[in-house]
Amino acid sequence: MGADVVELVSRFIDQRYQAPSVDYTDLEPLLDSLAISPAEDGIPLHQLLDLIERAAGKGFDTANPGFAAYIPGGGLYSAALGDFIACSMNRYTAIAAPAPAFVQMEASVLRWLCGVFGLPATSQGVLTPGGSMANLSAIVTARTAKLGERFLHGTMYVSDEVHHSITKSARFAGLPAEAVRVVSTDALLRMDPAALRAAIEEDRGRGTRPFLVVASAGTIGTGAVDPLDLIADVASETDLWLHVDGAYGACFQLTHRGRDVLTGIERADSITLDPHKGLFLPYGTGCLLARDARALRDAHEAHADYLPPASDDDGLPDFSSFSPELTRDFRGLRLWLPLHLHGVAAFVRALDEKLDLAKLVHERLAALPTLDVPWSPQLSLVTFRPRNGTNADTEDLLRRINASARVWLSSAPIRGQLYIRMCILSHRSTRERVEEAVAIIAAAAAATDR
Ligand SMILES: *Cc1c(COP(=O)(O)O)cnc(C)c1O
Repeated sequence: MGADVVELVSRFIDQRYQAPSVDYTDLEPLLDSLAISPAEDGIPLHQLLDLIERAAGKGFDTANPGFAAYIPGGGLYSAALGDFIACSMNRYTAIAAPAPAFVQMEASVLRWLCGVFGLPATSQGVLTPGGSMANLSAIVTARTAKLGERFLHGTMYVSDEVHHSITKSARFAGLPAEAVRVVSTDALLRMDPAALRAAIEEDRGRGTRPFLVVASAGTIGTGAVDPLDLIADVASETDLWLHVDGAYGACFQLTHRGRDVLTGIERADSITLDPHKGLFLPYGTGCLLARDARALRDAHEAHADYLPPASDDDGLPDFSSFSPELTRDFRGLRLWLPLHLHGVAAFVRALDEKLDLAKLVHERLAALPTLDVPWSPQLSLVTFRPRNGTNADTEDLLRRINASARVWLSSAPIRGQLYIRMCILSHRSTRERVEEAVAIIAAAAAATDR
């Protein structure tokens, strides 16, 4: 069975380079054939693999080298091998005692990540299913540390470019909608630290309890990074928890240029990163790092007499003490195997390549008279729209580009105007394919202009 599955997967990956970046053809009959109840007696594997293979290519192809919509990631095959092993062995890694050696492997990756961000030995990381869950845990941790149980007058601060998972998480964290204050951004769409300071002072004056500022390290719209150092100054002077949402951008910390852009991130109380974006891993791999392990534990720990005893402080981490989850998959191997197999330098090279490619795309597109390309990329995301066009013109241009089926982009409104976004972050999006994408965009822009 394993050999058949590997054959299917390697064929699928080989085909990605030629496969259309989007495919909705003949979808209805396929959906009908998939809406089946499990048979009483089972079906041979080859028939089921056939169904899976036909299903796999439908929709937009997030594993395709031409996929640059939203925030791509690609999905490393070596991580899938790690998952295959982890699922087959099925050890229990929510608590250290049942699988101390596997927990040590996951803990060592988290320790390494804490070091990448310059966090002290008292820090602790936890792998989450994604950035949203990491943001939720961060907000609950900040709330617990700064406000305790009576938190309804708490106020938190975000920029108008913040990811919607932050406001969604604030709701899950029990905060009323008016607890989230939106701070304005500058011309480069970065949070204005002076406006942040003024809002905190104003709120303190009217009796609310400011407790948290969420800075963005790579916004969804343009990949903007807030001035983390200046925001850290405000946070420390006003005694606020500083959370950095780096779901998209934080992994660029591995590169020299990324570290320059992200200066100040090492002062955060907590950091969200998404290895299923910035480390090219499969979906389901997010991460939260907290400067103070104790704060993370205080917000998440719970005891039950029927569970194995918790480790002491210096021992291996019980991940369930740092997370809302109890039973979970052994996510650690999904990072451990690719990092040790390929080496850190391979990831640094790939991330540097994405920064180079975004710069190249920006230069090429900005040179076209038909396009408006207002922001040079801070990370690997380029945003553009037809010059002097309407939002409908932007939609039209996006349709023409995506009709190529060689590149797949998405759009987002920024300050009321619709922009097309090209986010280069798949390990399969190499120079040749990005050059092809630029040519497709240029041709589509020229055609729209006529
Ligand atoms: C992707 C993203 C999130 C949400 O992460 P998920 O992994 O999709 O849950 C949050 N914030 C930012 C900035 C993101 O790019």
